[in-house]
Amino acid sequence: MSYSIAVDGPAGAGKSTIARKIAGQLGCIYVDTGAMYRAMALYLIQNGVNAGDARAISQKCQEADISIRYENGEQIVLLDGENVNGLIRTEEVGNMASASSPNPAVRKKLVSLQQKLAKTSDVIMDGRDIGTCVLPDATVKIYLTASSRVRAMRRYEELKAKGEDCDFETIEADIEKRDHQDMTRENSPLRQAEDAVLVDSSGLDIDGVVAEIIRICREKGIGA
Ligand code: C5P
Repeated sequence: MSYSIAVDGPAGAGKSTIARKIAGQLGCIYVDTGAMYRAMALYLIQNGVNAGDARAISQKCQEADISIRYENGEQIVLLDGENVNGLIRTEEVGNMASASSPNPAVRKKLVSLQQKLAKTSDVIMDGRDIGTCVLPDATVKIYLTASSRVRAMRRYEELKAKGEDCDFETIEADIEKRDHQDMTRENSPLRQAEDAVLVDSSGLDIDGVVAEIIRICREKGIGA
């Protein structure tokens, strides 16, 4: 039986780290949908589109050629055939992704790519609307969250480790702004699906969260 695991939650809750580990343990594919919105945002930035210009976003996004490839289990996002994994993890791109992702044309294009991937393999997919919109019939739905302070601290340490110049207060303010944008947007807002299990990672380490989610998956017959 093929399966899908949907993991939704706010920025910095640990979704990608945890989903990647679970994919390794279960032997399924990890689909990072945020990376697709980030690749789209990069394309918009490169083409001089303003974050507030909904018309330009709707038009330009049609031209972006975004595709996904897997190398040694790692998701590679290709923009016009070029690997952009190394270019999409900046705050600038994250903020543009949050500003452009509510656009219906952007969502339509990327949701269809995500649904195609889930049809071809067993997946764990993380994002904001996976359990509510992309995979409403997912075998397991997780809503992973943590306090904004804990999430900002994780992002801060991640960026510092990469040698990026960053400021904690700015990151926390950005996280709160992004939460607000993601949760209050009209189109596919971030919210917990009714049948999703809430996991709060504030007081847990990565392995603790992974173990908890694997346990929930086993209950549904995945990896049993
Ligand atoms: O998860 P990540 O921070 O990489 O996502 C970047 C932005 O992409 C989010 O702030 C959100 O606005 C958007 N996104 C979305 N739907 C998803 C995944 C990400 O709207 N499924």
